[in-house]
Amino acid sequence: MNLLKDPFISTTDGKVSLKDILTSNKDYQLQYFFDETQLAMLQMLSSLSTVVLKPTISDLNDYLANGLSPGQYDALLEKVDSQWFEGERFMRSAFPSKAKIADGPITKLVSGIECGGSANALGLFSESSEVSICCTDCTHVLNYNLHMNIKGECFGPTGATGIRGGGSISTLISGENLKSTILLNTVCIDYFNEQAQLDDDAESRFMWDIPPISDIYSAPKIGLERGLFALAYHIDFPVIDTPCTCDICGNTADQSVTTFQRVKYSGSYGSTKKGRDNGAGWWLHPYTPRNVKEDGIYAVCARDQYWQSWQELTSYVIGKETDKTSVKPAFIINQFQNKLGVDLCLSLLVGGNIADQGSIAGRVYDLYSMPSSLSKNNSRISLVINAGLTQKEKLSLAFNKIFGVGYDKNFVGGIKNQAIQKFTSNAQQIVQQILLDVNRKEATQLRKEAIEALNKEAKSIFKSVQRKYQHDLPLFKALVKGEFILYKADS
Ligand SMILES: [Zn+2]
Repeated sequence: MNLLKDPFISTTDGKVSLKDILTSNKDYQLQYFFDETQLAMLQMLSSLSTVVLKPTISDLNDYLANGLSPGQYDALLEKVDSQWFEGERFMRSAFPSKAKIADGPITKLVSGIECGGSANALGLFSESSEVSICCTDCTHVLNYNLHMNIKGECFGPTGATGIRGGGSISTLISGENLKSTILLNTVCIDYFNEQAQLDDDAESRFMWDIPPISDIYSAPKIGLERGLFALAYHIDFPVIDTPCTCDICGNTADQSVTTFQRVKYSGSYGSTKKGRDNGAGWWLHPYTPRNVKEDGIYAVCARDQYWQSWQELTSYVIGKETDKTSVKPAFIINQFQNKLGVDLCLSLLVGGNIADQGSIAGRVYDLYSMPSSLSKNNSRISLVINAGLTQKEKLSLAFNKIFGVGYDKNFVGGIKNQAIQKFTSNAQQIVQQILLDVNRKEATQLRKEAIEALNKEAKSIFKSVQRKYQHDLPLFKALVKGEFILYKADS
């Protein structure tokens, strides 16, 4: 099986190839049971598409407008050294001799289902028995997910941190169908070269051809294709000759895989403290928004289980500047805003794990409607998000009155925190719902509706707390005092 040629991608129409998706008008839907695998598949397919198409900005605009014929795909594929995409080779480098090989069940490669032995490898979302066997085709997306999305800490001392850092958030453009989604997330080589500022002698061969050997993996030395599939482990998936129904994609297969083996690479990327301190630099991973701080660049991560993506949406699309740090949108968002002449209704996909040290505390997979002209109308997004953040702040101020009652601080703090978390969580759907109208409604109307809906939610949460404590007179009185804040008009 070759990932650039053969049908290994599971869809509701059976398994198809990258060429099938990119060169037909059929509306394929990916079929993977876990949204995390689905997200990894979109990243991996867009990176594979980058390897085959290697488009300039003008090429990609052409493919988006006019499509790509099977003949064009074949001609482009001729120029690619496709042996590196054979199933037994792709993203797999041989174990160093004498290395101690760690192994585990493939269950560990769906990080919402953690079954590690380390004390803090917690975070069970689903039963581990749900993923115990897979087809050989699905080993590639599990391997990719391990390298790009799963936090090394989840594997204790045998875990490694990949090129983007552990547990980072991904942002992708979501098009009207799978083909346009993959094309919209394909990297334009000319724009990447301009933005990434690699050295002239940057290595472009894949790491399973030429593994990195130094202690520090210097970002400017890592070429685009090498970085898109950068490795952190030597890895292997032992194949057994037993038929299976795959727990990842649902297809049946003659052979199956239940375990994987790994040995971590010994060097450090600029995504780690050691790499940062030794000047490795940040490699411009195209799907990763980042925090630029005085002491270096960090992938944006979601760290708190109560975190909801809407609060950060503005910074993922437009960026955000504060005194000490600035959040930059992912390269792929900038590419879309600045270089692609598409005038379609699109969505932004925000996905990833919410990691807390070695455990996974939650998962994010949120889709937002975006203005069709993202560069011109993106202020509409900030209006909606700011309305949400303002209501959250008001709710917080309203609850502050209960700290004056003289009760135990932890007790009243707990009441407040629970209410704020509930608001943040409920606002997620409200914001997504309001943004569905981002193309149809004027900015002032959108803002008005956002304020109304979110203020209603804040009041309703506040009222439910009031009801709960109506027989506790001091607390109830304090809540009545705070209530007016939610009724003050927004300036
Ligand atoms: Zn499968």
